[in-house]
Amino acid sequence: MKVILSQPRGFCAGVVRAIEIVERALEKYGPPVYVRHEIVHNKFVVDGLKAKGAIFVEELSDVPSGAVTIFSAHGVAKSVVNEAGGRQLPVLDATCPLVTKVHNQGKRYVAQGRVLILIGHAGHPEVEGTQGQIPAPVHLVQTVEDVATLDIAIDTPVAYVTQTTLSVDDTRAIIAALERRFTDILGPDTKDICYATQNRQVAVRELSKLVDVILVVGAKNSSNSNRLREIGAEAGVPSYLIADGRELEPGWVKGVNTVGITAGASAPEVLVEDVIGALKRLGPVEVTTLPGRAETIEFRLPPELAAATA
Ligand code: SF4
Repeated sequence: MKVILSQPRGFCAGVVRAIEIVERALEKYGPPVYVRHEIVHNKFVVDGLKAKGAIFVEELSDVPSGAVTIFSAHGVAKSVVNEAGGRQLPVLDATCPLVTKVHNQGKRYVAQGRVLILIGHAGHPEVEGTQGQIPAPVHLVQTVEDVATLDIAIDTPVAYVTQTTLSVDDTRAIIAALERRFTDILGPDTKDICYATQNRQVAVRELSKLVDVILVVGAKNSSNSNRLREIGAEAGVPSYLIADGRELEPGWVKGVNTVGITAGASAPEVLVEDVIGALKRLGPVEVTTLPGRAETIEFRLPPELAAATA
């Protein structure tokens, strides 16, 4: 069996930074440190940090007074920032700078007097954070069909922003519907929203031309991993989202010549190796990697941690 690895795959700069913030905080302040929500959507990563002394909570009310508190890569609503400030919690913000960029873009549109539309998935922490950062009502659109139900006059000046981890293609269809509906509409170039989302999606589309089955390594609640699986399936290749090698069903790869593997932005490479190991237990495999696009982006750590020893 041939195995082709998509490139790039796995960790993005925002995830690397978020994990490093927790690790350096544990080193500098000592355990426990409290993290609001899963720092990134990956159980393996979260369990590893728990073992080092991180405690994950969903609400700030579960953080004891004075405890070091970290906001996850997905960002938080302004009310959460204010609550932490009111309780004088020492906060380290692991919100990905590209998510913050979306918040700032949305705030600028609202300051220009535009009604803001957010393209994203209801209930995702990034969407809740973005809605809660904008000092005005934010209309959530999840599908092309939702556009027709927006209660906004067609000549109202509007603008849109999007969740960072959506499929660029899906977003394009929704934006086209918005542009058909509204006469005065602005929005950012979707290709600029998140380089990592874009690169992983382009790569899996290339991969889908070469393989019989695609395995996407990632968590079920990882938005970008789900999109990678969908892109493979839309290209007509049976595609499966798996957390690790234990979830590999032998039937998926029975009689298959070439298996493609990619990984979501929050999935560590060790889990890709685990899936390759599971394939090897079924028979001999030959692993190659697609050339793909090189990624050199790194995000700076918060100043209070930048000098801490790694
Ligand atoms: S996928 Fe993009 S927006 Fe999300 S954490 Fe990674 S770099 Fe940031």
